[in-house]
Amino acid sequence: MIEPADIIYLDNNATTQLDPAVVEEMMPFLTRSYGNPSSGYSFGAQARDAVELARELVAALLGCTPGEVVFTSGGTESIATAITSALQTQNDRKHIVATAVEHSATLRFCERLREEGCDITLIGVNEAGELDLDALNAAIRADTALVSAMWVNNETGVIFPIAKIAAIARERGVLFHTDGVQAAGKLPLNVRNGAINFLSLSAHKIHGPKGVGALFVDRRTAFRPLLVGGEQENSRRAGTENVAAIVGFGKAAELAAAALSREAERIRTLRDWFEAEIAARVSDVSINGRDAQRVPHTSSISFRGIESDAALIMLDRYNVCCSAGSACRTGSPEPSHVLRAMGLPDERLRASLRFSFSRFTRDDQVERAIEIVTRVVRDLRALNSPPLVSVGA
Ligand code: PLP
Repeated sequence: MIEPADIIYLDNNATTQLDPAVVEEMMPFLTRSYGNPSSGYSFGAQARDAVELARELVAALLGCTPGEVVFTSGGTESIATAITSALQTQNDRKHIVATAVEHSATLRFCERLREEGCDITLIGVNEAGELDLDALNAAIRADTALVSAMWVNNETGVIFPIAKIAAIARERGVLFHTDGVQAAGKLPLNVRNGAINFLSLSAHKIHGPKGVGALFVDRRTAFRPLLVGGEQENSRRAGTENVAAIVGFGKAAELAAAALSREAERIRTLRDWFEAEIAARVSDVSINGRDAQRVPHTSSISFRGIESDAALIMLDRYNVCCSAGSACRTGSPEPSHVLRAMGLPDERLRASLRFSFSRFTRDDQVERAIEIVTRVVRDLRALNSPPLVSVGA
Protein backbone atom coordinates (compact mmCIF):
# COMPACT_ATOMS: atom_id res chain seq x y z
CA MET A 1 0.00 0.00 0.00
CA ILE A 2 1.37 3.40 -0.99
CA GLU A 3 1.42 5.69 2.03
CA PRO A 4 -0.22 9.09 1.43
CA ALA A 5 2.75 10.79 3.13
CA ASP A 6 4.97 9.60 0.26
CA ILE A 7 2.93 11.00 -2.59
CA ILE A 8 2.55 14.39 -4.16
CA TYR A 9 -1.14 14.42 -4.84
CA LEU A 10 -2.03 16.86 -7.60
CA ASP A 11 -5.08 15.08 -8.95
CA ASN A 12 -7.83 16.57 -6.84
CA ASN A 13 -10.21 16.85 -9.79
CA ALA A 14 -10.12 13.05 -9.98
CA THR A 15 -10.87 12.63 -6.31
CA THR A 16 -9.91 14.20 -3.00
CA GLN A 17 -8.59 13.07 0.32
CA LEU A 18 -11.25 12.52 2.98
CA ASP A 19 -11.15 15.31 5.51
CA PRO A 20 -10.41 13.68 8.92
CA ALA A 21 -13.40 15.55 10.36
CA VAL A 22 -15.58 13.82 7.74
CA VAL A 23 -14.27 10.38 8.75
CA GLU A 24 -14.96 11.17 12.39
CA GLU A 25 -18.54 12.16 11.58
CA MET A 26 -19.09 8.99 9.53
CA MET A 27 -17.66 6.47 12.00
CA PRO A 28 -20.68 6.08 14.32
CA PHE A 29 -22.85 5.29 11.29
CA LEU A 30 -20.44 2.59 10.12
CA THR A 31 -20.30 1.01 13.53
CA ARG A 32 -22.90 1.68 16.22
CA SER A 33 -25.75 3.48 14.52
CA TYR A 34 -26.60 1.04 11.74
CA GLY A 35 -30.38 1.43 11.76
CA ASN A 36 -32.34 1.79 8.54
CA PRO A 37 -33.57 5.39 8.20
CA SER A 38 -36.94 4.11 6.97
CA SER A 39 -37.59 2.05 10.14
CA GLY A 40 -40.24 3.35 12.50
CA TYR A 41 -38.41 2.77 15.81
CA SER A 42 -36.03 5.23 17.47
CA PHE A 43 -32.90 3.40 16.36
CA GLY A 44 -33.95 4.01 12.73
CA ALA A 45 -34.96 7.58 13.51
CA GLN A 46 -31.42 8.24 14.69
CA ALA A 47 -30.12 7.42 11.20
CA ARG A 48 -33.00 9.36 9.62
CA ASP A 49 -32.17 12.45 11.66
CA ALA A 50 -28.53 12.22 10.58
CA VAL A 51 -29.54 12.04 6.91
CA GLU A 52 -31.80 15.06 7.36
CA LEU A 53 -29.04 17.06 9.02
CA ALA A 54 -26.75 16.21 6.09
CA ARG A 55 -29.48 17.37 3.71
CA GLU A 56 -29.58 20.73 5.50
CA LEU A 57 -25.81 21.10 5.20
CA VAL A 58 -25.79 20.29 1.48
CA ALA A 59 -28.71 22.68 0.99
CA ALA A 60 -26.75 25.41 2.76
CA LEU A 61 -23.84 24.90 0.35
CA LEU A 62 -26.24 25.38 -2.56
CA GLY A 63 -28.43 28.11 -1.09
CA CYS A 64 -31.59 26.01 -1.54
CA THR A 65 -34.09 24.41 0.82
CA PRO A 66 -33.35 20.91 2.21
CA GLY A 67 -36.42 19.56 0.43
CA GLU A 68 -34.77 20.36 -2.90
CA VAL A 69 -31.81 18.01 -2.24
CA VAL A 70 -32.04 14.38 -3.41
CA PHE A 71 -29.17 12.11 -2.35
CA THR A 72 -27.81 9.83 -5.07
CA SER A 73 -24.81 7.57 -5.60
CA GLY A 74 -22.73 10.39 -7.10
CA GLY A 75 -22.36 12.85 -9.95
CA THR A 76 -22.97 10.28 -12.68
CA GLU A 77 -26.31 9.18 -11.26
CA SER A 78 -27.40 12.77 -10.58
CA ILE A 79 -26.71 13.76 -14.19
CA ALA A 80 -28.55 10.73 -15.59
CA THR A 81 -31.47 11.44 -13.26
CA ALA A 82 -31.78 15.09 -14.32
CA ILE A 83 -31.66 14.32 -18.03
CA THR A 84 -34.08 11.39 -17.75
CA SER A 85 -36.49 13.42 -15.65
CA ALA A 86 -36.50 16.30 -18.16
CA LEU A 87 -37.33 13.89 -20.99
CA GLN A 88 -39.93 11.87 -19.12
CA THR A 89 -41.85 14.83 -17.75
CA GLN A 90 -42.07 16.36 -21.23
CA ASN A 91 -42.97 13.49 -23.54
CA ASP A 92 -43.34 15.74 -26.56
CA ARG A 93 -39.72 16.94 -26.30
CA LYS A 94 -36.89 14.73 -27.52
CA HIS A 95 -34.02 17.15 -28.01
CA ILE A 96 -31.14 17.90 -25.60
CA VAL A 97 -28.65 20.75 -25.87
CA ALA A 98 -25.34 20.16 -24.07
CA THR A 99 -21.80 21.40 -24.48
CA ALA A 100 -19.06 19.55 -26.31
CA VAL A 101 -16.83 19.70 -23.23
CA GLU A 102 -19.17 18.06 -20.70
CA HIS A 103 -17.91 15.22 -18.54
CA SER A 104 -18.34 11.75 -20.07
CA ALA A 105 -21.14 11.13 -17.54
CA THR A 106 -23.22 13.57 -19.60
CA LEU A 107 -21.79 12.91 -23.05
CA ARG A 108 -22.03 9.12 -22.89
CA PHE A 109 -25.54 9.30 -21.49
CA CYS A 110 -26.50 11.60 -24.36
CA GLU A 111 -24.91 9.18 -26.85
CA ARG A 112 -27.10 6.42 -25.41
CA LEU A 113 -30.18 8.65 -25.75
CA ARG A 114 -29.25 9.39 -29.35
CA GLU A 115 -29.20 5.66 -30.08
CA GLU A 116 -32.67 5.50 -28.55
CA GLY A 117 -34.03 8.21 -30.85
CA CYS A 118 -33.31 11.52 -29.08
CA ASP A 119 -31.69 14.38 -30.90
CA ILE A 120 -28.57 15.80 -29.25
CA THR A 121 -26.89 19.12 -30.11
CA LEU A 122 -23.44 19.79 -28.66
CA ILE A 123 -22.29 23.41 -28.47
CA GLY A 124 -18.63 24.12 -29.10
CA VAL A 125 -16.11 26.33 -27.32
CA ASN A 126 -13.38 28.68 -28.53
CA GLU A 127 -9.65 28.22 -28.04
CA ALA A 128 -9.86 29.60 -24.53
CA GLY A 129 -12.54 27.03 -23.65
CA GLU A 130 -15.36 29.60 -23.57
CA LEU A 131 -18.85 28.64 -24.66
CA ASP A 132 -20.54 30.18 -27.70
CA LEU A 133 -23.72 31.51 -26.08
CA ASP A 134 -25.24 32.63 -29.40
CA ALA A 135 -24.83 29.12 -30.76
CA LEU A 136 -26.43 27.75 -27.59
CA ASN A 137 -29.40 30.08 -27.96
CA ALA A 138 -29.75 29.23 -31.64
CA ALA A 139 -29.67 25.49 -30.91
CA ILE A 140 -32.76 25.60 -28.67
CA ARG A 141 -35.87 24.35 -30.48
CA ALA A 142 -39.53 23.93 -29.70
CA ASP A 143 -38.86 20.29 -28.82
CA THR A 144 -35.80 20.91 -26.59
CA ALA A 145 -36.34 19.17 -23.26
CA LEU A 146 -33.18 20.33 -21.49
CA VAL A 147 -30.08 22.49 -21.75
CA SER A 148 -27.16 20.99 -19.81
CA ALA A 149 -23.90 22.84 -19.21
CA MET A 150 -21.22 22.20 -16.62
CA TRP A 151 -20.39 24.99 -14.19
CA VAL A 152 -16.64 24.29 -14.07
CA ASN A 153 -14.71 22.12 -16.51
CA ASN A 154 -12.94 19.19 -14.88
CA GLU A 155 -9.99 19.27 -17.31
CA THR A 156 -9.23 22.98 -17.61
CA GLY A 157 -11.03 24.62 -14.68
CA VAL A 158 -12.77 27.00 -17.11
CA ILE A 159 -15.93 28.50 -15.61
CA PHE A 160 -19.06 28.74 -17.76
CA PRO A 161 -21.36 31.76 -17.17
CA ILE A 162 -24.08 29.66 -15.61
CA ALA A 163 -26.38 32.57 -14.69
CA LYS A 164 -26.40 33.71 -18.33
CA ILE A 165 -26.95 30.20 -19.71
CA ALA A 166 -29.73 29.56 -17.22
CA ALA A 167 -31.35 32.87 -18.20
CA ILE A 168 -31.24 31.91 -21.90
CA ALA A 169 -32.85 28.54 -21.17
CA ARG A 170 -35.49 30.16 -18.98
CA GLU A 171 -36.31 32.80 -21.58
CA ARG A 172 -36.76 30.08 -24.19
CA GLY A 173 -38.95 28.04 -21.85
CA VAL A 174 -36.49 25.14 -21.51
CA LEU A 175 -35.34 23.32 -18.37
CA PHE A 176 -31.71 23.83 -17.34
CA HIS A 177 -29.31 21.41 -15.66
CA THR A 178 -25.79 22.21 -14.57
CA ASP A 179 -23.11 19.71 -13.65
CA GLY A 180 -21.78 21.42 -10.55
CA VAL A 181 -19.44 18.56 -9.57
CA GLN A 182 -16.24 20.57 -10.09
CA ALA A 183 -17.74 23.88 -8.99
CA ALA A 184 -18.74 22.87 -5.46
CA GLY A 185 -16.26 24.07 -2.88
CA LYS A 186 -14.51 26.18 -5.52
CA LEU A 187 -17.15 28.81 -6.29
CA PRO A 188 -20.13 30.13 -4.35
CA LEU A 189 -23.08 28.14 -5.75
CA ASN A 190 -26.27 30.03 -5.22
CA VAL A 191 -29.24 28.39 -6.86
CA ARG A 192 -31.77 30.50 -4.97
CA ASN A 193 -32.68 32.83 -7.85
CA GLY A 194 -34.63 29.99 -9.42
CA ALA A 195 -33.21 29.86 -12.98
CA ILE A 196 -31.47 26.52 -12.39
CA ASN A 197 -33.82 23.54 -12.44
CA PHE A 198 -31.27 20.80 -11.68
CA LEU A 199 -27.73 20.78 -10.32
CA SER A 200 -25.52 17.71 -9.86
CA LEU A 201 -23.00 17.29 -7.04
CA SER A 202 -20.52 14.63 -5.94
CA ALA A 203 -19.10 14.26 -2.43
CA HIS A 204 -15.70 12.80 -3.31
CA LYS A 205 -14.62 15.99 -5.09
CA ILE A 206 -15.03 18.02 -1.88
CA HIS A 207 -13.17 15.80 0.60
CA GLY A 208 -16.20 13.61 1.22
CA PRO A 209 -16.65 9.89 0.56
CA LYS A 210 -16.95 8.23 -2.84
CA GLY A 211 -20.24 6.80 -4.06
CA VAL A 212 -22.51 9.56 -2.79
CA GLY A 213 -23.77 12.72 -4.44
CA ALA A 214 -26.84 14.86 -4.71
CA LEU A 215 -29.21 16.28 -7.24
CA PHE A 216 -30.73 19.68 -6.56
CA VAL A 217 -34.26 19.74 -7.98
CA ASP A 218 -35.91 23.13 -7.93
CA ARG A 219 -39.17 22.74 -6.01
CA ARG A 220 -41.28 24.14 -8.89
CA THR A 221 -39.78 21.73 -11.41
CA ALA A 222 -41.67 18.58 -12.37
CA PHE A 223 -39.64 15.52 -11.44
CA ARG A 224 -39.69 11.82 -12.24
CA PRO A 225 -37.27 9.51 -10.45
CA LEU A 226 -34.74 7.36 -12.25
CA LEU A 227 -34.72 4.66 -9.58
CA VAL A 228 -38.06 3.37 -8.32
CA GLY A 229 -38.94 0.68 -5.82
CA GLY A 230 -39.07 2.46 -2.47
CA GLU A 231 -40.28 5.67 -0.88
CA GLN A 232 -36.83 6.92 0.17
CA GLU A 233 -35.79 10.49 -0.55
CA ASN A 234 -39.43 11.56 -0.52
CA SER A 235 -40.10 9.05 -3.32
CA ARG A 236 -37.50 10.68 -5.55
CA ARG A 237 -34.73 8.06 -5.33
CA ALA A 238 -35.45 4.50 -4.25
CA GLY A 239 -32.95 2.38 -2.36
CA THR A 240 -31.83 2.29 1.27
CA GLU A 241 -29.77 5.39 1.95
CA ASN A 242 -26.00 5.07 2.30
CA VAL A 243 -26.28 6.72 5.70
CA ALA A 244 -22.59 6.96 6.64
CA ALA A 245 -21.67 8.35 3.22
CA ILE A 246 -24.51 10.86 3.30
CA VAL A 247 -23.45 11.98 6.78
CA GLY A 248 -19.89 12.37 5.49
CA PHE A 249 -21.15 14.33 2.49
CA GLY A 250 -23.03 16.69 4.82
CA LYS A 251 -19.90 17.33 6.87
CA ALA A 252 -17.82 17.78 3.70
CA ALA A 253 -20.35 20.33 2.41
CA GLU A 254 -20.24 22.22 5.69
CA LEU A 255 -16.44 22.32 5.63
CA ALA A 256 -16.34 23.27 1.94
CA ALA A 257 -18.67 26.21 2.54
CA ALA A 258 -16.57 27.38 5.50
CA ALA A 259 -13.26 27.06 3.63
CA LEU A 260 -14.38 28.64 0.38
CA SER A 261 -13.29 32.25 0.77
CA ARG A 262 -10.32 31.41 3.02
CA GLU A 263 -8.78 28.84 0.69
CA ALA A 264 -9.47 30.30 -2.76
CA GLU A 265 -6.74 32.94 -2.49
CA ARG A 266 -4.15 30.54 -1.08
CA ILE A 267 -4.81 28.02 -3.84
CA ARG A 268 -4.71 30.75 -6.49
CA THR A 269 -1.28 31.85 -5.24
CA LEU A 270 -0.09 28.23 -5.25
CA ARG A 271 -1.42 27.55 -8.76
CA ASP A 272 0.00 30.83 -10.16
CA TRP A 273 3.39 30.05 -8.63
CA PHE A 274 3.32 26.53 -10.08
CA GLU A 275 2.45 27.78 -13.56
CA ALA A 276 4.96 30.65 -13.46
CA GLU A 277 7.79 28.36 -12.32
CA ILE A 278 7.00 25.69 -14.92
CA ALA A 279 6.87 28.34 -17.66
CA ALA A 280 10.20 29.80 -16.47
CA ARG A 281 12.01 26.46 -16.24
CA VAL A 282 10.54 24.56 -19.20
CA SER A 283 10.47 25.96 -22.73
CA ASP A 284 7.52 25.63 -25.07
CA VAL A 285 4.67 25.18 -22.61
CA SER A 286 1.15 26.51 -22.95
CA ILE A 287 -1.52 26.73 -20.32
CA ASN A 288 -4.87 25.54 -21.59
CA GLY A 289 -7.78 27.83 -20.75
CA ARG A 290 -5.49 30.58 -19.47
CA ASP A 291 -7.42 33.32 -21.28
CA ALA A 292 -10.76 32.30 -19.82
CA GLN A 293 -12.17 32.67 -16.32
CA ARG A 294 -10.81 29.67 -14.41
CA VAL A 295 -11.07 28.30 -10.92
CA PRO A 296 -7.68 28.36 -9.18
CA HIS A 297 -7.72 24.63 -8.47
CA THR A 298 -6.82 23.40 -11.95
CA SER A 299 -3.83 23.77 -14.22
CA SER A 300 -3.86 22.10 -17.63
CA ILE A 301 -0.50 22.42 -19.34
CA SER A 302 0.73 21.28 -22.77
CA PHE A 303 4.46 20.51 -22.98
CA ARG A 304 5.52 20.52 -26.63
CA GLY A 305 7.40 17.39 -27.70
CA ILE A 306 6.28 14.96 -25.00
CA GLU A 307 3.63 12.24 -24.85
CA SER A 308 1.48 12.65 -21.77
CA ASP A 309 1.18 8.87 -21.25
CA ALA A 310 4.97 8.53 -21.03
CA ALA A 311 5.12 11.55 -18.71
CA LEU A 312 2.54 10.00 -16.40
CA ILE A 313 4.57 6.80 -16.11
CA MET A 314 7.71 8.75 -15.24
CA LEU A 315 5.89 11.04 -12.82
CA ASP A 316 4.44 7.99 -11.13
CA ARG A 317 7.99 6.78 -10.41
CA TYR A 318 8.46 9.97 -8.39
CA ASN A 319 5.04 9.43 -6.75
CA VAL A 320 3.54 12.50 -8.43
CA CYS A 321 -0.16 11.93 -9.04
CA CYS A 322 -1.72 13.93 -11.87
CA SER A 323 -3.53 13.02 -15.07
CA ALA A 324 -3.72 13.52 -18.81
CA GLY A 325 -7.07 15.18 -19.31
CA SER A 326 -9.49 13.55 -16.92
CA ALA A 327 -8.99 10.47 -14.74
CA CYS A 328 -11.77 8.75 -16.67
CA ARG A 329 -9.58 9.04 -19.77
CA THR A 330 -6.60 7.19 -18.28
CA GLY A 331 -6.02 4.05 -20.34
CA SER A 332 -8.02 5.42 -23.26
CA PRO A 333 -6.10 5.90 -26.51
CA GLU A 334 -8.28 8.90 -27.36
CA PRO A 335 -6.88 12.30 -26.39
CA SER A 336 -9.03 14.72 -24.43
CA HIS A 337 -12.32 15.69 -26.09
CA VAL A 338 -12.19 18.95 -24.11
CA LEU A 339 -8.84 20.07 -25.49
CA ARG A 340 -9.89 18.86 -28.95
CA ALA A 341 -13.05 20.98 -28.74
CA MET A 342 -10.80 23.94 -27.89
CA GLY A 343 -9.05 23.34 -31.21
CA LEU A 344 -5.65 22.38 -29.83
CA PRO A 345 -3.37 20.92 -32.51
CA ASP A 346 -2.73 17.20 -32.20
CA GLU A 347 0.77 17.50 -30.74
CA ARG A 348 -0.49 19.74 -27.91
CA LEU A 349 -3.46 17.46 -27.32
CA ARG A 350 -1.20 14.48 -26.71
CA ALA A 351 1.23 16.49 -24.62
CA SER A 352 -1.12 17.79 -21.92
CA LEU A 353 -1.08 17.15 -18.21
CA ARG A 354 -3.65 18.22 -15.66
CA PHE A 355 -2.58 19.21 -12.16
CA SER A 356 -5.30 19.93 -9.64
CA PHE A 357 -5.01 21.38 -6.16
CA SER A 358 -7.07 21.33 -2.99
CA ARG A 359 -7.08 22.80 0.48
CA PHE A 360 -4.80 19.92 1.53
CA THR A 361 -2.12 20.75 -1.07
CA ARG A 362 0.97 22.08 0.68
CA ASP A 363 3.61 24.53 -0.64
CA ASP A 364 6.42 21.99 -0.24
CA GLN A 365 4.52 19.45 -2.38
CA VAL A 366 4.09 22.01 -5.14
CA GLU A 367 7.76 22.99 -4.89
CA ARG A 368 8.78 19.35 -5.28
CA ALA A 369 6.32 18.87 -8.16
CA ILE A 370 7.86 21.85 -10.00
CA GLU A 371 11.29 20.20 -9.77
CA ILE A 372 10.08 16.75 -10.79
CA VAL A 373 7.89 17.90 -13.68
CA THR A 374 10.78 20.02 -15.01
CA ARG A 375 13.13 17.04 -14.84
CA VAL A 376 10.67 14.59 -16.42
CA VAL A 377 9.84 16.89 -19.33
CA ARG A 378 13.55 17.54 -19.99
CA ASP A 379 14.32 13.80 -19.86
CA LEU A 380 11.46 12.94 -22.19
CA ARG A 381 12.48 15.62 -24.66
CA ALA A 382 16.07 14.39 -24.60
CA LEU A 383 14.83 10.87 -25.34
CA ASN A 384 12.66 12.09 -28.19
CA SER A 385 15.23 14.37 -29.84
CA PRO A 386 17.23 12.81 -32.71
CA PRO A 387 20.73 11.57 -31.72
CA LEU A 388 23.73 13.74 -32.59
CA VAL A 389 25.55 12.44 -35.63
CA SER A 390 29.32 12.67 -35.37
CA VAL A 391 31.03 13.67 -38.59
CA GLY A 392 34.66 12.87 -39.57
CA ALA A 393 37.08 10.40 -38.14
N1 PLP B 1 -19.00 15.59 -13.63
C1 PLP B 1 -17.74 16.04 -13.52
C2 PLP B 1 -17.43 17.41 -14.01
C3 PLP B 1 -16.76 15.25 -12.93
O1 PLP B 1 -15.52 15.72 -12.82
C4 PLP B 1 -17.11 13.97 -12.46
C5 PLP B 1 -16.08 13.08 -11.88
O2 PLP B 1 -14.97 12.99 -12.37
C6 PLP B 1 -18.43 13.54 -12.60
C7 PLP B 1 -19.35 14.37 -13.19
C8 PLP B 1 -18.87 12.17 -12.12
O3 PLP B 1 -19.00 12.18 -10.71
P1 PLP B 1 -18.98 10.79 -9.89
O4 PLP B 1 -17.58 10.30 -9.90
O5 PLP B 1 -19.43 11.16 -8.52
O6 PLP B 1 -19.94 9.88 -10.56
